[in-house]
Amino acid sequence: MRTPQEYLASILNGIAPLAATSLDLAEANGCVLAEDVHAMWALPSFANSAMDGYAVIASDVADASVSHPVALQVIEDIPAGSWPLLEVTSGTAARIMTGAPLPVGADGVVRVEHTDGAMPVVLVHSPSGGHIRSIGEDVQPGEQVLNQGQVLSARTIALAAAVGRSTVLAHPNPRVAVISTGSELVEPGQPLAAGQISDVNGVMLEISLRELGALVIRSSIVDDHADALRQALDDAAQQADLIITTGGVSMGAHDTVKEVLSSLGTVTFERVAMQPGMPQGCGHIGSPPTPIVTLPGNPVSALVSFEAFVRPVIRRLQGREDSKFSSGEVIAGAAFSSPKDKLQFVRARFSSGSALTATPIGAQGSHILGGLAQAECLLVVPAEVELVSVGDTLAFIDLRRESR
Ligand code: AMP
Ligand code: MG
Repeated sequence: MRTPQEYLASILNGIAPLAATSLDLAEANGCVLAEDVHAMWALPSFANSAMDGYAVIASDVADASVSHPVALQVIEDIPAGSWPLLEVTSGTAARIMTGAPLPVGADGVVRVEHTDGAMPVVLVHSPSGGHIRSIGEDVQPGEQVLNQGQVLSARTIALAAAVGRSTVLAHPNPRVAVISTGSELVEPGQPLAAGQISDVNGVMLEISLRELGALVIRSSIVDDHADALRQALDDAAQQADLIITTGGVSMGAHDTVKEVLSSLGTVTFERVAMQPGMPQGCGHIGSPPTPIVTLPGNPVSALVSFEAFVRPVIRRLQGREDSKFSSGEVIAGAAFSSPKDKLQFVRARFSSGSALTATPIGAQGSHILGGLAQAECLLVVPAEVELVSVGDTLAFIDLRRESR
């Protein structure tokens, strides 16, 4: 049996980043930039006012005070988006709004609060405080403002917009098809006939994928019939950059995923030395080949396998390199035993008051959904450890949405 780390390395071997493409700015959030972005113009691109007030010659108002205001003739009104026509000369001013271009001749702005706000003659009560944003004080024309390899965010995309871009060259987010297999499955909310259960994995994986920025293009339930599954896989392979299935990969008589995929493409199945999530499969189907990862059906196994294998695959497709599966280290808050020769993922909660200690919760069966909902993290217990003692240091995977 291979270790999860070995298995992950072999999956990632077959996965390359999606080819970079031109993305609209609003689509590019979270994507890896595949070019250097240079400014098409300076920021600011013209000298402008940082305040609502009056553009003046600073020396005209150097001695202005409340008791000795200086009167200036207001020659023009300059709102943002207009361009001044007149030159400010000694004894004159132009009313100016924040972001409006500074008129020729002016070398300072007096805030409106330091005047009587009047037109066509304004009384100025205080010297100019400057308040001029000068050309290029932020960014020079041609300056490299974003670097290839950077993960884009609202802030960095804002800068691309400011320097003239509407698109960027970036690795797109993968389109993923999720297929829940099992003749017992019905859509959540549907009444259950005898022997049926609600499909849990479909929505769980869809949300987990979306949290990583992936685009879930279809999520379907397919019963345990080879023809139905073959059809669903064919359709998915034509549309998706990655296919994820759940169920049907263990040792049962109706494990259709294993049956169908073993004769299709390059998919192989194996038992990985981990608990939960031992039965796994991966490979490619269709032409051009679409990667597929087949997860076990038990929801806890599916989630653990998602964290261990699918998350790194998504990151690789996105052109990101963080393919490790641990979020850091925590201290065990309780003693517990762990199976020999298997890496164990233990559902746990952080102890209150400290995010550094975590304690296993309740039953760890891979069908126990109540415990999964309560879990904040997965403790990762190495294969060789059979007994964890209070105070031991363990790697963990953070499951809390807010810390991802
Ligand atoms: P399997 O791997 O198909 O043998 O499934 C293992 C267990 O997980 C069985 O109890 C299934 O009913 C359950 N299971 C499989 N797929 C799902 C799903 N999408 N949602 C909830 N439970 C599932
Ligand atoms: Mg099944």
